[in-house]
Order: sequence, then C-alpha cells, then structure tokens
Amino acid sequence: MNYFISKTLGIEDPNVIFDNKLEEIEYKGERFKCYYAKVTYIPDYCESCGVCNTNYSIVKNGFKSSRITIPKVSEMNAFLILKKQRFYCKHCCSYFTAQTNIVDVDRHISNNTRLTILDKATTIRSQKSIAKSCGVSNSTVSRVINHAAQDIKHLPFSTLPKHILMDEFKSVKQVDSAMSFIFCDATSHKIIDIVRDRKLYSLKNYFSRFPLEERNKVLTVTIDMYEPYMSLIKEVFPNAQIIIDRFHIVQALNRALNMSRVKLMNTFRRSNRPLYNKYKRYWKLLLTPFEDLNAFSYRKLKLFKSWQTPKGVVEYLLSFDTNFQHSYEVVNELRYSLKHNNSKDFITTLNEVELNEVCFKLKIVLKTLKKYQLYIDNTLKYPNITNGPIEGINNKIKLIKRISFGYRNYDNLRNRILLTSRLYASPIKKEIKQPKVA
Ligand SMILES: [Zn+2]
Repeated sequence: MNYFISKTLGIEDPNVIFDNKLEEIEYKGERFKCYYAKVTYIPDYCESCGVCNTNYSIVKNGFKSSRITIPKVSEMNAFLILKKQRFYCKHCCSYFTAQTNIVDVDRHISNNTRLTILDKATTIRSQKSIAKSCGVSNSTVSRVINHAAQDIKHLPFSTLPKHILMDEFKSVKQVDSAMSFIFCDATSHKIIDIVRDRKLYSLKNYFSRFPLEERNKVLTVTIDMYEPYMSLIKEVFPNAQIIIDRFHIVQALNRALNMSRVKLMNTFRRSNRPLYNKYKRYWKLLLTPFEDLNAFSYRKLKLFKSWQTPKGVVEYLLSFDTNFQHSYEVVNELRYSLKHNNSKDFITTLNEVELNEVCFKLKIVLKTLKKYQLYIDNTLKYPNITNGPIEGINNKIKLIKRISFGYRNYDNLRNRILLTSRLYASPIKKEIKQPKVA
C-alpha cells in the first residue's frame, strides 16, 4: 500500500510511511484530499552540535505535524499531513526535526508543487490560472517564480555569446521610457538578459559590467535600424560587426512604397473614382514580389471589365505615374537581391538610383539605407542570422501580458520572461556560418 501511494504521489523518500487513511476536507471553499504520513529515521549526527549518534546520545522525542500542499490528484486539490519526527540530543540538550525531500525546511508547499508551478509558468497562461490549477494562492505563484528567477539570473556578467540579437519590447508603465531592452543568443535563442530601459546611458552602464576581454569576443550584433544601438555597439563591442535585420529592411521598403501608393491614390479621389478604387483594392498585389505574380491565369477580377492576370493588374496600376513606377522597380530590385543574398547587386542598385525620380517617402528610406550600407553588407554576408527568434520571444511576452490583463510590476514581468526562456536547457538551434573572405 505504501508503495502504491508514494509512487502515485511521486514521493521518493524511503523514510516516509503512509497511514492507511484518506479524508476529504473543505478548506477556503474548496475540497481537498488529505493524505497522512509520518517521516522518521535514526539520525547519524546531531544537527545543532554535529556530534555522532553513538550510545543513544540522540533520542526520538514526539512528532511535529505540518500540512503540505502537494500537486493535484485526479484533478482534485490535495494536502499531505506530514508528521515529522522530533529528536533530542543529550549532548547539547537541543531539539531538531527530521528532514525530508518532499518539502524544504519551513515551507508548506511541496517541492513537486513548486516544480509544477515553474513548469506551468513557462507556458502562456496567467498567474491566476496557474494558482488555481495548483491549489495555491496567487502570491505563492509570484513568490515561487521570483525565487527561481533569482537562481537562474545569477550567472551573467562573466560570459557573452559570439552572436547577439538585440531588440526592445513594450514594458510596464512603471518604466520611465516604456520600452525595455532585451538581448538574446543567436545560436541557442535564449534570452541573456533584460534591461529596464533602452536609453543609451543605461545600456552603456549595463554592458560595462562585462569584462573587456569578454566583450571583445562578440563577433556580430543584429539590430533594427535604431541609431543609438549602433553607437552603443561601437563603444562596448569593439570587434563586433553590426548586422541590420533583413526583415526590417524589407518592412521599411514596403511601407514606403505603400505610402506612395496612398498618396497617388488620393490624387484620383475626385477626378477618377474607378481608378481610385482599383488602387485601393489591389494594394496587396503591389507589395507582392514581381517575380511571384502570376502572368498566365486570366480571371474575372472585380472593378475590371476584361479578364486580368495579377501581373496585368500591377502593370496597369503602374502605368499612370512614372515616379511611382520607378519606385516600384527600385523596391523590387532591392528586395530581390536581399532575398538572394546578392550584396553586389544590392549596393549597385542603391547607389545608382536617381533619388529625384522616386517618391518622396522612398527617398528617405533609400537615404537611410545608403547611410547604413556597410551594415547591410553584413546582413547579406551572414544569411542565417535574423532577429526572428527575438521577435518570437517578444510575441510571447505580448501574449503573457495580454492574458494576465497586464503586469504592473516590472520585476515580476522580467522574472516571468526570464523563466520562460531559461528554465530548461536547450540545445544549440542554429549553426552560424562564418562568411567567406573574398
Ligand atoms: Zn547536539
């Protein structure tokens, strides 16, 4: 009997002996199963003075009972009423209590429950729902998470990975700048740390804690086009190459093209309503890569009298404004060379484009890209480094915040985020290939 109960409850301690008794009690409006057990053994030494237990110098002296929350049994909350043996040491005249691995000293939540809470905290669900499913209070969950986060965040300030990804996420109101900084390892996709705000001086302050030899080892840092990060990287990582995330380049180009479309569309608002409608309806086709557009399947499309192909629609829309057409071609060429990692073509296109012949919005983007040419060159050199993993983490953060109806305390949010990514050791997800030196 003892064997079955201890196996079912996942209790491995051989010193625990279960009573042949099971009760159901009501506690704070919920039903709990109550298991009864005692823990006793013959100690080897005294815990207060350390003297060896020879000649019966330590004797048993009654029991101390405590109620421990254990994980649910068949979806029902459960308690273990554990009677712990008390011992009396004749040598130093002191008392001590038997220990067990079910629960730590002075705790009432079993170690199994704590592990269950931590495991659940790595998934996307609210603290309240974790608390309910483990039969503990909301503040217990916070405490367990914060405690575990203390343990896992203490290793840093000594090592840094070779490839770093940097980004920011919308933090809690408590933080002044509302944006917190996050950086992770490009190979294992693990969060290294989270910094309260992304202002340049606080980041410099943070990174200066790492020794210089360690910072020298960093080879690449991937960022979006946020200027302060560039000066930060130059200063704190002297040997690192800056990589601009390719998704952000494409996004900037697409956004500029789309804004030009809206501007052009609005000029036809009153003069040519059918054309205005076509620009409005087929915006997505204009952002699709030209080489992916179908040129053969003719179909009846809305707003067009004759049968059309997607490619035909795009060509029709481009025929009304030479500036817009030119912008479209430039964006397409840049996207194409980026997709095929052709850095020579990308730089040539960028440098040969006549800025006066493209739309105003695109002009701004192209000027920025020209400024960061060197970094974009790195983007193409390291084709398999992107900020994708960190964007994924950011999405998870957003979901956790949303599902908990927001976090108020920055430290609680930070600990939860660190836990989701760092609780379990993960294998290396991606090998970073070194670029060939031409
Ligand atoms: Zn003693």
